[in-house]
Amino acid sequence: MRSRGFMFCGNWKMNNLLTESLNLVRGVMLEIDPSVFDFCEVVFAPSFPYLLAVKEIIEGTPFKLSAQNCYWEEKGAFTGEVSPLMLRDVGCSYCIVGHSERRNIFGEIDRWINKKVKALLSVGITPILCVGEKLEERREGKLFDVIYRQVTMGLDGVDLGSYRVVIAYEPVWAIGTGINAAPEDAEEVHSYIRGIVAEKYGMDVAGGMTILYGGSVNPFNIGDLMKMENIDGTLIGGSSLKVRDFVDIIYGGLEGKGVWR
Ligand code: PEP
Repeated sequence: MRSRGFMFCGNWKMNNLLTESLNLVRGVMLEIDPSVFDFCEVVFAPSFPYLLAVKEIIEGTPFKLSAQNCYWEEKGAFTGEVSPLMLRDVGCSYCIVGHSERRNIFGEIDRWINKKVKALLSVGITPILCVGEKLEERREGKLFDVIYRQVTMGLDGVDLGSYRVVIAYEPVWAIGTGINAAPEDAEEVHSYIRGIVAEKYGMDVAGGMTILYGGSVNPFNIGDLMKMENIDGTLIGGSSLKVRDFVDIIYGGLEGKGVWR
């Protein structure tokens, strides 16, 4: 079975101006013991205008850069959009797609998200495909149907034997609310997602897939979440904006996995 890496990705959303962005990255770089990179990847996802500035600071270090969104075309008359090729050009290794804020505020649908996944893979960027149910969907017993649809449509036509995709399970009711999913509940969904991938692509691919949890992660709850077998890291919103919290989540997560201290 392929081994899978752990990952901690800070999704800054539409926060931080230039100085704040640079201070945050420099602060994290100062606080992180370089040996954490033996166990995990640490990724910054600033907003578009600051990608290049962040890249310049992390150049030559193990830190990685992610965008928060993209369009699927290579170039052309698409005012206001950013192509995967542009993201690669400024040094992105990852790009978040299908975040619930994109789905629910901007009306993105699974078919578009699938196009973005494929466009990113075609230029060598790893998509972080976000999936997750709304509270009413969970209450109506639709949790697994929603996850199945988002995962299978997001990955439709993607050869995971040849390309890497990271999945982030982010229950919508847990994002930015201070209410994280209970570790056992998150684990149930992570294991379900891995099962979907196993069914379509085989155990080897499924076992090697990094599946992140996201939703109100903080330094106090990360340890218990990461104790779960199928939780391989986290996509962090609010807590990734503070150096101390972001760094403590990384240490706490690795402790939860039993690989640190
Ligand atoms: C997110 O937006 O991806 C997220 C997980 O946000 P928060 O950590 O603030 O809940």
